Amino acid sequence: MGGHTSCWSVELPTGETLVLDAGSGLRALGTRGRSTGGTFEVLLTHRHLDHLDGLPHFAPLYANDARVRVRCASVGAGDLRASLRTILSPPLFPVSFDQLARTLDVASCDGRPATYLDHQLEVAQTMAQHPGGAGIYRIADASGPLFAYAPDNELAERAGDAQVATWRRELAVFLRDVPVLVHDATYVDDELVQHAGWGHSSAEEATRLALACGAGTLVLHHHHPDRTDDDVARIVERCQAIVDRERSSMKLVAGVEGLTVRVEG
Ligand SMILES: [Zn+2]
Ligand SMILES: [Zn+2]
Repeated sequence: MGGHTSCWSVELPTGETLVLDAGSGLRALGTRGRSTGGTFEVLLTHRHLDHLDGLPHFAPLYANDARVRVRCASVGAGDLRASLRTILSPPLFPVSFDQLARTLDVASCDGRPATYLDHQLEVAQTMAQHPGGAGIYRIADASGPLFAYAPDNELAERAGDAQVATWRRELAVFLRDVPVLVHDATYVDDELVQHAGWGHSSAEEATRLALACGAGTLVLHHHHPDRTDDDVARIVERCQAIVDRERSSMKLVAGVEGLTVRVEG
């Protein structure tokens, strides 16, 4: 499946790119011909290192004709700037934040839907259950929702908490009829008891959420780092059985390095 951490790019047919999270996969995006130069909008769900560790290695930061604008759903520009200053500073990294002032720009998300890429995409956000907070993004164009991204989110189906149940119902509304949902699938149901409060879901919980909100395709994402490819294949089979029992036509795939999902708007 590959060993990279979270990074997705949403690309328009025009070649413009919106980046979701800056995990280690970001490096490969930066070395592709079409991706040097221009402005890159990078939306982080949160500042955990597995969602940031590709940023120092993103080639456009060092290009003459590029601008990289980074925002984070869970904190304002000041706190995000402080975190990036920490990562981008010797001895952790040889190039400092201030040396990148020409290309790197830090901005705020105010929680309201915002448009990107010449107003062609609208991005709405809601908050996940995750230690320290994390965002969930839903991207739409004029035709409606296209893609939703919830990489770190504890659905906590087993928690008998009314507040959590209300949040889960509101989340299903936020994600309703989304053609592609990328969701946290770190655990399987049997592992949840030992990991309550850790901020992640089981693959089965992600599948049940995707079915409840009418997703077209579910991408199981953020696999536990100890999983082998065979383990992940077995988890997909287990979740496919849930889909089949519901007689749903929802597609189910595991997130893998380099996966491309085509969405017709
Ligand atoms: Zn996290
Ligand atoms: Zn994570």
